[in-house]
Amino acid sequence: MSEQRSGRFVVVGAGPCGLSLALQLAKAGCQVDLIEASAQFSRQFRGDALMPCGQEALARMGLTELLEGLPQRRLEGWRVWVEGRLLFEVAEPMGSLQPCRLVPQQRLLEALLEQALKQPSLRWLPGQAVQELDWEQGRISGVRLADGSLCRGDLVLGCDGRSSLLRRQAGLGLIPQGPKLELLWFVLPGPIQEDGVWGFETLVRGGAIASACRSANGDLQLAWLLESGQSTPELSAEAWSERFAAMGSAALAQLLRQRGEALSKPQRFSVQVGMAERWQRPGLL
Ligand SMILES: Cc1cc2nc3c(=O)[nH]c(=O)nc-3n(C[C@H](O)[C@H](O)[C@H](O)COP(=O)(O)OP(=O)(O)OC[C@H]3O[C@@H](n4cnc5c(N)ncnc54)[C@H](O)[C@@H]3O)c2cc1C
Repeated sequence: MSEQRSGRFVVVGAGPCGLSLALQLAKAGCQVDLIEASAQFSRQFRGDALMPCGQEALARMGLTELLEGLPQRRLEGWRVWVEGRLLFEVAEPMGSLQPCRLVPQQRLLEALLEQALKQPSLRWLPGQAVQELDWEQGRISGVRLADGSLCRGDLVLGCDGRSSLLRRQAGLGLIPQGPKLELLWFVLPGPIQEDGVWGFETLVRGGAIASACRSANGDLQLAWLLESGQSTPELSAEAWSERFAAMGSAALAQLLRQRGEALSKPQRFSVQVGMAERWQRPGLL
């Protein structure tokens, strides 16, 4: 039986961070409200790569068995193609005991939630967006949800992702580290054969940078880096496939030329690496 601890925690966001943290707190006997804006975990555009450090973090949380029970495959390695020629290739594991694994993030989140829901001290609030922080005498004392209700706790944990509303409302700024990257993300539905794409392929040609990787479920995930401020090119699925095909191995080119019309429309993402000098306010982490 787990040791009972006092303290009420409000965890906002049920991504990998919020779910694993809420699970640890609830297992330790703390009262936890876990609030998630979305009602489901099917975020179509997410990479599957679980790095050795992520695997180690799960192991330290006693979640090795949970991870082993998920559909997955090990990443073969990394390849870099420049101007159509293979510059180098390195097999996994690279400098660590475990290879990088490909695990569908949705399945990992569902498995963590299943464990969390077994903890009697955890209250799960899906489909509820936090709208604002609640303050009491200069200290953050909880959060107000979109339906107007209030969730109070001794500590609010903002796990609401890269553009965290909680971080911004608490006045915790991010110092950008380098320019913002804009990228387009595509999926070619599988199954893609193993000999079509090997490992994570970085593709560089004529100033363009792209990547290709076979996901855990056998789809092909492709990314295209845009120049800063560039609008999304209006291209057909076949034209995008041809762009990728011209950049890497003959096997990738053949695959994309045969199946190119099935390529999804591009989804645009921006990536800003930033550093927060402060991580906390009274009542908030
Ligand atoms: C296209 C893409 C590909 C990626 N590929 C990889 C990869 O291959 N390997 C890898 O390790 N990482 C990858 N990442 C990054 C990885 O997804 C993130 O690092 C990880 O999801 C961060 O986890 P998190 O729990 O901090 O935040 P998130 O996963 O962003 O979760 C935040 C949660 O908070 C919820 N939320 C937000 N605002 C509110 C609110 N106001 N109220 C309530 N809930 C809220 C959101 O709905 C979300 O569920 C990728 C990201 C993208 C976008």
